[in-house]
Amino acid sequence: MLSKRILKLQPSPTFAIDAKVKQMQLEGIPVINLTLGEPDFPTPKYIQEAGVCAIRDGFTHYTATAGILDLRKAIVAKLAQENGVNYTPQEIAVGVGAKQLLYHVFQVLCETGDEVIVPTPTWSTYIEQIILTGAKPILIPLKFPFKITALNIKKHITNKTKVILLNSPSNPTGSLIEKNELKKIAQIAVEKGIYVISDEIYEKIIYEKKHYSIASFGEKIKQLTIIINGFSKTYAMTGWRIGYAAGPQKIIQAMINLQGQTTSNTSSISQKAAVVALSGDQLPIKKMIKEFKKRRDFLCRALTQMTDLSWEKPEGTFYLFVNIQKLLNKKYPTSEKWAEALLSVASVAVIPGEAFYAPGYIRICFTTSIKNLSEGVKNINTFIKNKNQST
Ligand code: PLP
Repeated sequence: MLSKRILKLQPSPTFAIDAKVKQMQLEGIPVINLTLGEPDFPTPKYIQEAGVCAIRDGFTHYTATAGILDLRKAIVAKLAQENGVNYTPQEIAVGVGAKQLLYHVFQVLCETGDEVIVPTPTWSTYIEQIILTGAKPILIPLKFPFKITALNIKKHITNKTKVILLNSPSNPTGSLIEKNELKKIAQIAVEKGIYVISDEIYEKIIYEKKHYSIASFGEKIKQLTIIINGFSKTYAMTGWRIGYAAGPQKIIQAMINLQGQTTSNTSSISQKAAVVALSGDQLPIKKMIKEFKKRRDFLCRALTQMTDLSWEKPEGTFYLFVNIQKLLNKKYPTSEKWAEALLSVASVAVIPGEAFYAPGYIRICFTTSIKNLSEGVKNINTFIKNKNQST
C-alpha cells in the first residue's frame, strides 16, 4: 500500500500534454511545441569544456554534500556583486537543481499546522512540495496583470503563517515584484517573524527592469530569507541538474543534512562546470537573453491580431501567459480542453492555466525559433477562426 502522503501527490500537470506531444511525434506528426520551460540554446561552449575537463581530470567522485568549496565561494562572490547580499560559504548549499533545494527548504521549515503563502498563478511544484510537508498552501489569486503587492500578502497572514513564497520574475506570468512592494513585504516579514523563500531562478532572464533580491534589504530580512537559484535557465544547463540555496547557516545546514541522507552531492562534473559558468565570459548569456527579448516582442506583436486574447508583455522569463476566457464555450469549457483541442487539431502544444492554478489561461513558451513561433501563431489563429465558432 502506498502512503497517504504520496497518494495525495499530484503528478506534474504538464504530463498529459507531454505524453500526447510525444505520441504525435512518434506517429510522424510535426508538433509546434510551445511548452518547453528550458532554453533551446546549447550550454555555452566554455561551460561544456569545463565539464569535459572535469571528467578527463578524474574529478568524478563524491564531493562534500554541500558542494565543492570553489563553487560555494564563486556563489558567495556572485551574490555579493550582483545581488548586494553577503554570505559565507557555510551559508550556501549546492544541490540537484533548484527543485531539490526547494524540496529541502520546505521540508526543513514546514510541518503540519503551518501555512505557506503562495501567490497564484504559480508553478505547481511549490504546492506539491508544501503539501508533502503537511503544511497548508494558502493561495492568493492575483488579478491580471498579476502584480504582487505587500497589502495582498498582509491580508492573508495568520498566526500560522510560517513562510511567504516569492518567485520573481514569475513562472508562468513573467511578472516582476516591484522594488517598493518587495521592500514592504520585507518589512512585514520582519515584523511578524515570517520566513521568505525567494525563488530567483529567472533573475537574469529579464528585459527592461532590474532584479532585486529581498535579502538585500537589510540584515533582519536576510536572516529570514532563503534564496533559491540555479544554473538551468541562465546558463542553459537544465540537464546538468545543479542549483543552490543561500540563507541562515542553521537552515542551510539542516538542508545539507537532509541532502546527505538522500542524494548526497550533485554531480561533481556539473559543479566544476558551474564554477566556470559563474566566472567565465557572460557574452553567450547576454546573446541568449537578447534573442528571448526579440522573440517575446515578435510573439506579442503577432498575437495582437487575435482580439479575443489578452495578455501582459512579460517583464522576465520566457513565458507569455494569455487569457483565453473569451474563447471558452460549450465545446471547449476549460483552458485544459481548449489546449487539448489546439494540440489535436492545430498541432500546437501549450500548457493550460489549470497547471498553474489559473484556469482560463494558457502559457506559451518562446523557447523556440521565430519561425516556429510564427507558424504556431498562424495555426492558433486558424484554430480560433475555424473551431471556436460553436457555442
Ligand atoms: N523554479 C521555477 C520557478 C521553475 O520554473 C523551475 C523550472 O522550471 C525551477 C525552479 C527548477 O529549476 P531546476 O532545473 O534548477 O531544478
